Amino acid sequence: MADNKRKNSEYERAERVFGAHLARQGLKLTSQRRVVLRAVMTTHEHFSVEELYRTLKQEHGGISLASLYRTMPILVEAGLVQAVRFADETRYEHCFGHANHDHLVCLDCGKIIEIEEREMDKVERQASQANDFRPMGRSLVIRGYCRSCHKRGKRLLLSELSRGDMGVITGLLGGAGMVSRLQDMGLRLGKRVIKISTMFGGGPVVVQVEGTQVAVGKGMARRIEVELEE
Ligand SMILES: [Zn+2]
Ligand SMILES: [Zn+2]
Ligand SMILES: [Zn+2]
Repeated sequence: MADNKRKNSEYERAERVFGAHLARQGLKLTSQRRVVLRAVMTTHEHFSVEELYRTLKQEHGGISLASLYRTMPILVEAGLVQAVRFADETRYEHCFGHANHDHLVCLDCGKIIEIEEREMDKVERQASQANDFRPMGRSLVIRGYCRSCHKRGKRLLLSELSRGDMGVITGLLGGAGMVSRLQDMGLRLGKRVIKISTMFGGGPVVVQVEGTQVAVGKGMARRIEVELEE
């Protein structure tokens, strides 16, 4: 309830800002523009104009793609929405009511991670002041590969896994005695393991294998090779 109320007031404030901005341009806050504003303010996704169009078309058949393309820049100028250029397309999100943030974008799966780095705000402020520039938004996009994409298919030793990493055992690198001890613990080739935690003080590595948790000594964990999965 409280959250809904907050959202409503965020929308109402946005509507006042939009209305005032339109009025300055001699434009009206038509019911169509209101529909677009509401849609934009109620999602926290990073959407493309086409995606917004597909969503709106279902409920408001009267809206055209062309009018959306005309409306988005007005919302950006009004300071309500920001455009972010991702890998090969422009996406939008509402920024009204939110702190400045930047984006990490995965080139593989398209995942978008929002980051809030105060240092970036400082850079924005200083660079703007130095150039007597009035900043109206920024878009810093760091392109690369997210954790699961850059780790997928990589082979690591069990000792090197991070908490939550999941993979399949592809190698048991020890003498026959070591291998049979590992096998007794359920750590066999082809078994899927999930890293649960490392006990403090560099103690054993705790993994889950076939639904049971086993603690693997540090030395043993360096004998197990795992191919990471998502
Ligand atoms: Zn919001
Ligand atoms: Zn990814
Ligand atoms: Zn964002």
